[in-house]
Amino acid sequence: MKINRTYNITVLTLFPEMFPGSLGHSLAAKARENRVWDLQTVNIRDFADDNYGTVDDVPYGGGPGMILKPEVLGRAFDANIPGKDWDKIVLTPRGKPLTQNRIKKISTKKGLLIVCGRYEGLDERFVKSRSLEEISIGDYILSGGEPAAIVLIDSVVRLLSGTLKETANICEESFENSVLEYPQYTRPLHWEGMTPPEVLLSGDHAAIKKWREEKSLEDTKSRRPELIFNEKK
Ligand code: SAM
Repeated sequence: MKINRTYNITVLTLFPEMFPGSLGHSLAAKARENRVWDLQTVNIRDFADDNYGTVDDVPYGGGPGMILKPEVLGRAFDANIPGKDWDKIVLTPRGKPLTQNRIKKISTKKGLLIVCGRYEGLDERFVKSRSLEEISIGDYILSGGEPAAIVLIDSVVRLLSGTLKETANICEESFENSVLEYPQYTRPLHWEGMTPPEVLLSGDHAAIKKWREEKSLEDTKSRRPELIFNEKK
């Protein structure tokens, strides 16, 4: 397969051994083998400036936990300056929620630098000084940015040209056109007293398309009405 360019990803983390994790399997691994994308991890601790490898300190103003130090993060970033057309993202629950639309835009760039937080988070001055975009993967708290980075990378990599054999199926997935995907069925025809909706067995492509569109809309209205509401805004 001819790949036009390799999409490069750099991850700044205190736990480089957590990568590639699930990205070392299946679709993402195959795409990496084919040079669709590549990953380098940078150990933030390598940029500590004392013999103990200190990377964190107590928060100004008091409170629990430890905060990653700006000068250590700054050195780690400056030694790995991202390309001009790269996104620079720090993962934090305080960030803008990640959406499929944002992921699509990220996948059109040349590369991606991701900073993973740990403990109680990072010094705000680092985030501001390096103009990082703050992104959250959902309204819950993880113990570190690494699982969030893997989620982000996985969702970007599957959109890169050369990862999926058939890109047509991307167009019908959930969140395309602000709706959830319709429910899916496969063989066997009878299972535990249930059968798929008859229209799917009819061979009538127009009727199947209509049923899927209606079901998409119905399920989105009952499960995620805000998707439709947000699109209209
Ligand atoms: N004290 C922080 C707060 O209340 O916003 C939470 C810190 S969390 C325990 C440690 C790190 O995990 C964060 O710095 C961030 O990198 C990552 N993290 C946790 N939840 C996340 C989420 N929902 N999205 C993205 N990153 C998250």
